[in-house]
Amino acid sequence: LTDLNNLADECMRLSYYGIRAKEKDFNCTLETSLDQKLEKVEVAPQELGRVLLNLFNNAFDAVQQKQRTAPAGYKPKVRVSTGSQNGNAVIKVWDNGPGITTHVKSKIFQPFFTTKPTGQGTGLGLSLSYDIVTKGHRGELTVATEEGEWTEFTVSLPYMPVEE
Ligand code: ADP
Ligand code: MG
Repeated sequence: LTDLNNLADECMRLSYYGIRAKEKDFNCTLETSLDQKLEKVEVAPQELGRVLLNLFNNAFDAVQQKQRTAPAGYKPKVRVSTGSQNGNAVIKVWDNGPGITTHVKSKIFQPFFTTKPTGQGTGLGLSLSYDIVTKGHRGELTVATEEGEWTEFTVSLPYMPVEE
């Protein structure tokens, strides 16, 4: 059984410090809103960790990208939250980056789809994450976004996965 609060928080920090090691003057506010009553969940921690790292890497990429063009005063922010919803443990990764257009949104879970410059994105992160969550854990991975404002990915994991 895995403590999703710990996993989510550690992945956020690992991702952030990894980027900061390369780009010293990148500063982002990290927010955590963890449900301390969340029950542990039967997941493969390494696989779910990869999912979360992908989501956080994308979130930090997004706010960094927005920072290059945003007006002065823009403050990058990434937030992780956990909770329970309809028999699922839920992890949300939110950022105040550029958001995702409807056209791009329809493609983000496809393998090799990326909007990042050559060499910076493989386009595999979200398709891999989608498979790990839906096929590997019988959960759901969804996205909500407002263009120009924010993006939020939600991972839902059943407390009691149905056996095949
Ligand atoms: P990669 O990060 O290598 O581009 P992903 O599969 O992780 O591949 O993401 C695919 C695309 O989805 C990204 O190139 C980007 O266009 C979009 N995307 C993912 N996460 C975000 C986000 N948090 N904000 C804005 N766009 C995003
Ligand atoms: Mg990615």
